[in-house]
Amino acid sequence: MTGNNQKQQDNALLNEVDNEFNGLTLALSKGRILDETMPLLQAAGVDLLEDPSASRKLIFPTTHPNVRVLILRASDVPTYVEHGAADFGVAGKDVLLEHGANHVYELLDLRIAQCKLMTAGVKGATLPNRRLRIATKYVNVARAYFASQGQQVDVIKLYGSMELAPLVGLGDLIVDVVDTGNTLIANGLEPRDHICDVSSRLIVNQVSYKRKFALLEPILDSFKESIKATS
Ligand code: AMP
Repeated sequence: MTGNNQKQQDNALLNEVDNEFNGLTLALSKGRILDETMPLLQAAGVDLLEDPSASRKLIFPTTHPNVRVLILRASDVPTYVEHGAADFGVAGKDVLLEHGANHVYELLDLRIAQCKLMTAGVKGATLPNRRLRIATKYVNVARAYFASQGQQVDVIKLYGSMELAPLVGLGDLIVDVVDTGNTLIANGLEPRDHICDVSSRLIVNQVSYKRKFALLEPILDSFKESIKATS
């Protein structure tokens, strides 16, 4: 893409930012959370007018005149909701535990995108008899977990591909989310300790909850009905 074309596209994206929007802004992340939240949203009468996986856009209008959707990095969802840039959002419990979120209500366990936070290490390897090194993007979760076990550890911050770290001597263990465990197995690792179960939560900005309750209520009620119907 030429510099001019890029600029035109960026301007087009910027022009769609509607700061006068008074409806509800929902923050989601691509992947499992988006895929598994869509049926809940559709049941609540909210459907995306465009497929985010086929678009560079970050703000999406929906079939509901008062709801728009932001597509964000998963770890940014609590930040947008906390600051009121989004009124509500869907975030994994792993993200909420790691990043925390103030001024936010965790209203519903949507029981989607379920997995576990676990420690994992090289298959069959015994752990060294010294202070352990833990490679992870979940540094706060890792510190809190090992402290709860009375174990002092050194935590090494990573941003992705955690499975690689113990294979090349960067850390004795990792802390990561595990679903089927296939990714661990494919990399010669094995799950060790179960830290906690993870599922996606509906979080709502506390001020939005009060000021926009009339708009939020039917969507929350529909989500509750959908959760009840599948459990
Ligand atoms: P699996 O091989 O099924 O254990 O999946 C492992 C990888 O998939 C993890 O390393 C994560 O990157 C990703 N993953 C699976 N489930 C989730 C989830 N619910 N939330 C976030 N990432 C997930």
